[in-house]
Amino acid sequence: MTTVDTIPGAARATAARLPDKVALIEGGESWTFAELYRDARAVASAYLARGIGKGDVVAIWAPNRREWILAGLGAHIAGAAITPLNTRMKGMEAGDILRRSYAKLLVCTERFMGFDYPTMIAGEDLPDLAGIVRIDGEGADGWAAFIASGKGADDPAVDAAEAAVAPDDLSDIMFTSGTTGSPKGVLHSHGNVVPLFRAWAERVDLQESDRYLIANPFFHTFGYKAGWVACLALGVTMLPMAVFDVNEMARLIETERVSFIPGPPTIYQSLLQGLAGEKRDFSSMRVAVTGAAPVPPVLVERMRRELGMENVVNGYGMTEFGAIAMTGKTDSPETVANTCGYALPGVEMTCVDGAGRPVAAGETGEILVRGRGRMIGYFENPEATGEAIDADGWLHTGDVGSIDADGYLRITDRKKDMFISGGFNCYPAEIEKLLAAHPAIELAAVIGVPDERMGEVGKAFVVLRPGTHADAAGIIAWSRENMANYKAPRSIEFVDELPRNAGGKVLRTALRER
Ligand code: ATP
Ligand code: MG
Repeated sequence: MTTVDTIPGAARATAARLPDKVALIEGGESWTFAELYRDARAVASAYLARGIGKGDVVAIWAPNRREWILAGLGAHIAGAAITPLNTRMKGMEAGDILRRSYAKLLVCTERFMGFDYPTMIAGEDLPDLAGIVRIDGEGADGWAAFIASGKGADDPAVDAAEAAVAPDDLSDIMFTSGTTGSPKGVLHSHGNVVPLFRAWAERVDLQESDRYLIANPFFHTFGYKAGWVACLALGVTMLPMAVFDVNEMARLIETERVSFIPGPPTIYQSLLQGLAGEKRDFSSMRVAVTGAAPVPPVLVERMRRELGMENVVNGYGMTEFGAIAMTGKTDSPETVANTCGYALPGVEMTCVDGAGRPVAAGETGEILVRGRGRMIGYFENPEATGEAIDADGWLHTGDVGSIDADGYLRITDRKKDMFISGGFNCYPAEIEKLLAAHPAIELAAVIGVPDERMGEVGKAFVVLRPGTHADAAGIIAWSRENMANYKAPRSIEFVDELPRNAGGKVLRTALRER
């Protein structure tokens, strides 16, 4: 018996409940829940025909599109786990992940944004990889030939494989964003994915009637699990976006009446920048979810005022723990920007000092989480797992923050990004939020740099708002008037853009390396 607490079980239940409802809209075409599930079963049959099933890993390397979902859901139906690859990776990085995940098959796009994926990994030594399926390929290793190599959606072997998928089975090995170092493989099971994202959906008020624009990449937890998995589980119509493009996003919201979008703060910043005050009809928008990185309060204000996105929800999560804390829909703009809300049901959160003792409500410390949604561990890395998960099951997030008496979480910053100036702890994220209030500053990123007298001082990389002027001395003087002296940056470097990872996060490590 399949249970609804597995990804295939959830997809199957929705296909039975809402067979004719549109599940997916892409490039002007649409597919129903019954069609999507049926097509994924045909993909599962093709995996099984190649001997890929329970215990195996399929790697997927492509932008958001229907075949990505079919490759993923098909693998899950066959009992296999998936490893998504970041679309911006180059050959060596992809090779490393393919080797470390022991992927048997790679399903990939041939060309994306000028990169030719199969050629990029051609020189890599990949002893476990038995084949490549080219989504756009026409030949023997193309998508159509791959599907034809199976016995189709009615293959009895698919029924048997699907019925054997249990909540404790491995669903995926996702590699962390690598914001703070090299990516680590994170293990999750079906049973900690599906119920967590049902709870997430309820908290962010994702409804069956919503039209969900998936701008988050499928290779990230929030595009994959909070994205297509949640849509399949809840029966929500999804519109995947292959590449983030402001005009396309605005067009989709208007013409397809999109009502629900999750995305990091950068996508809303880009939308505001791109539209530059132009009025568009976004009246269909019900919920804009953000998070994954610090959210400037002015951004929430501008989203409400300029984009008409009234209901902005902030959330906190990580690859190691799907979604932990979420703001509710009734929160004020200040609460949305400054807190990440309270824990989802089944999730516990605490905040500890350097000695591991819980701190008082409102005091700052490292955030620990446990419960539904926590990773099983890092793949083949007991040392890192032991550092991350303690004997009581708490995951040490590496994030510094506080939890108030009502259970609301505030993230101050990452432990690793903190610097100490004249004996005071400085959190770049906090300084960046303060800088965002400067009228000429569009974006800022702060790092600590060595200083003879203070130990470390802040240096800010600043992107100016188009059409504005400011000089370094002026911004430094403004900073001294608007924040504690030890936080005020001592040097400013003007840049055209900030280095970011594919998830849109500012890479402070890259700035430190400069
Ligand atoms: P790596 O672990 O490989 O260095 P990463 O931590 O950026 O990369 P993710 O798991 O994608 O990889 O991101 C989780 C992190 O993002 C959290 O630990 C936290 O630092 C940050 N984050 C997530 N949500 C928020 C939020 N709402 N506000 C501030 N920071 C957030
Ligand atoms: Mg991390």
